[in-house]
Amino acid sequence: MSEIILETRNLTKKYRNQYALKDVSISLKKNHIYGFIGENGAGKSTLMKIVAGLIFPTDGDMTLMGESDPAAIEKKRKLVGTMIEGPYMYPGYTVRQNVELQRLLVGNPDESATDRIIEMVGLGDSKKKKAKKLSMGMKQRLGIAMALIGNPKLLILDEPINGLDPKNIVTLRNMLKQIRDDNDCTIFVSSHILSELYLLATDFIFIHKGKIIDTATHEELEEKCSQYILVRDNNIPETVTIVEKHFPGTSYKVESDDEIKIYGKSEIMAELSGYLMNAGILVSELSIKEITLEDYFMSITGGDNNA
Ligand code: ADP
Repeated sequence: MSEIILETRNLTKKYRNQYALKDVSISLKKNHIYGFIGENGAGKSTLMKIVAGLIFPTDGDMTLMGESDPAAIEKKRKLVGTMIEGPYMYPGYTVRQNVELQRLLVGNPDESATDRIIEMVGLGDSKKKKAKKLSMGMKQRLGIAMALIGNPKLLILDEPINGLDPKNIVTLRNMLKQIRDDNDCTIFVSSHILSELYLLATDFIFIHKGKIIDTATHEELEEKCSQYILVRDNNIPETVTIVEKHFPGTSYKVESDDEIKIYGKSEIMAELSGYLMNAGILVSELSIKEITLEDYFMSITGGDNNA
């Protein structure tokens, strides 16, 4: 079984009479990259801040790297690298000074780590630039360097893609995959746009109005967002019997009295059409449809997200 890096149990955060988080129970495995998806205000930063120890939950608890006692969790937080609500840095200091200061703050004795990590995030040529003079993409990279300097086993990045252009998004994506492979760490990264994390994450956790509404592996999501055959006819029970008999193992969903969706196997369409005709079923529609990532997101959030 894979090692669990973080497990939360019914984490809840209430502000006055409003829940920012409600009974959040998630489990993050070693070496996975988790995409944490939810609209603005869904509770992503709140959960990340609780895990990072920046705020306290109203209720619930967690196990971080095998520790559940608050004092022991605090010690393990040295192995958690974070960039929450924008990159944190000293604007008047250079790139190198910022990372070096952070190295001293987190108590990493390896002096060579500063330059190595600056190179790794692609800021080798900008070491002497003041942080305030960096472009948005470079600031994000500096933020990630600061999060990495303590050799984290858990890297938490809150909306790191915000404000990046497409080229920088690709660079960031490749960098994070590299970090996961080189440092053997778990990455927990949030976005309000599912498609932005689709090419990066191995797993997805969906949050809506403070509650976890769905989780899926990349493969599961791929399946959910694949093609399907839409059939409209006058005998859905018989259509189901035909699908089960002739295409065993095919997943389908009866949508209404006259509509069924058959997932993932568009190549069966012609054959299916023949079986329906032979059974005397009157077919009014038989077509291949796509479910996009955003359709899927809309369907689980009830369509009132702003992604
Ligand atoms: P996200 O990161 O998904 O955009 P947040 O975790 O920042 O969402 O916020 C979740 C909810 O909690 C929002 O409704 C937000 O307004 C509320 N919230 C966050 N911080 C505070 C706070 N300090 N006081 C009151 N409400 C807050």
